[in-house]
Amino acid sequence: MNFETVIGLEVHVQLNTKTKIFCSCATSFGESPNTNVCPTCLGLPGALPTLNREAVKKAISFATAIDAQINQNSIFARKNYFYPDLPKAYQISQFEVPIVGKGQIEIVLDGVKKTIGVTRAHLEEDAGKNIHEGEFSKIDLNRACTPLLEIVSEPDMRSADEAVAYLKKLHSIVRFIGISDANMQEGSFRCDANVSIRPKGDERFYIRVEIKNLNSFKFIGKAIEYEVQRQIEAWEDGVYEREIVQETRLFDPVSGITRSMRGKEGAADYRYFTDPDLLPVFIDEELMKEGRDISELPDEKKDRYMRDFGIKESDAEVLIGSLELCEYFEAMLEYGANPKGALTWLTTELLGRLKGDVTILNCGIDSEMLATLVKRISEEKISGKSAKELLDVLVEQKGGDVDALITSMGLEQVNDDGMIIEVIERVLSTHADKVEEYKSGKDKLFGFFVGQVMKEAKGVNPSKVNELLKERL
Ligand code: ADP
Ligand code: ZN
Ligand code: MG
Repeated sequence: MNFETVIGLEVHVQLNTKTKIFCSCATSFGESPNTNVCPTCLGLPGALPTLNREAVKKAISFATAIDAQINQNSIFARKNYFYPDLPKAYQISQFEVPIVGKGQIEIVLDGVKKTIGVTRAHLEEDAGKNIHEGEFSKIDLNRACTPLLEIVSEPDMRSADEAVAYLKKLHSIVRFIGISDANMQEGSFRCDANVSIRPKGDERFYIRVEIKNLNSFKFIGKAIEYEVQRQIEAWEDGVYEREIVQETRLFDPVSGITRSMRGKEGAADYRYFTDPDLLPVFIDEELMKEGRDISELPDEKKDRYMRDFGIKESDAEVLIGSLELCEYFEAMLEYGANPKGALTWLTTELLGRLKGDVTILNCGIDSEMLATLVKRISEEKISGKSAKELLDVLVEQKGGDVDALITSMGLEQVNDDGMIIEVIERVLSTHADKVEEYKSGKDKLFGFFVGQVMKEAKGVNPSKVNELLKERL
């Protein structure tokens, strides 16, 4: 039997407000445990929450970016559950009326466009962190009450690749509009994947399994693929009904498998009710206006790059995959590099040479250096081949003065016509017989002459040689 995969994603994005969502503690990451805390985020009885206006503004910006409906009136609710990192025994979240309603995100996979529906996005507070060390479990509440935007998609994705493409696009969007640093290692962008299968052609939705807290694109893809396989095998072995239950599973990156963590609560188990400590939210026109004022979106940038610079869609997709890459690219253009040269030397040549943890931000080669290299190629001061040698050195020594290196490495091309003509004359007279053959129609010999000239006159500009040689012959 043929199966179809059905995936819906919930993504928690930590908003980069200076202070927490319901108190004025700082949100900075990596502080000593339990230092960014106050009675409110410690959940002490009687402490009252106050909503952070910036968090609401960032939610509006997100809604604008995905063309979603905005609920100007919304409410906060208590989601009740106990866990040691949740001192109040409830999380303040939104249930019935989230700030962000239906929207959509477009993905491109192998050149094919697809629109993925976003069901909703709501504001909520994060929990603290449990740290298990040997026989002790410790609790750090610095993260408690930091603002999250939970973005819930429709079950519209049909493969792990589509899910990853959606996440990458979502990641770009929140980075481009500046509402989150979306640092995956620090947990500022984490994803729960809901996965089910169904026989191809069957329109019903089957039992979904939720895989929690995935924080790398690679693991998300692997986790989904493993889970799909597990469900298909259960179906084929006739044990689907028994083995595939609505539950929360965890992915273990080392073994590459998912494991049951707990049964899945339904919404009713959380006993949601309106939080009596918080007023209903009303977003006035002023805040709407502030929130709607967002910077250029990934797809807008992509269209502009294609339109203004004649860049192919697949190349533009690579650039908009990362805000840093776009910023680097645009800076290169400002330093005078031509767009196509900048694209190739940034994405193919530079990125292709960076290994391990090295990125364009810490490789030591800044946009000015790379732009200079591209300019020297278009000025024909150096050949593309020499530029590659030069870039090897720049990567190796973590940056440097491009022009000084051109001189010290002796890479400068000879563009001196007189000198090139001299060499050409010499080559042609030494090979007078071949010149005759060429003239009687053996075109292929042209390459031979170029080779001879290049050998005698090291470092000459090959396009000059071509041009002058054609004239002479
Ligand atoms: P919960 O918090 O209980 O997980 P949500 O409504 O926040 O509930 O999220 C449910 C997610 O599961 C959504 O992303 C939705 O698209 C997805 N989903 C629902 N049904 C299925 C299904 N049969 N297969 C895969 N994903 C599903
Ligand atoms: Zn606090
Ligand atoms: Mg869920």
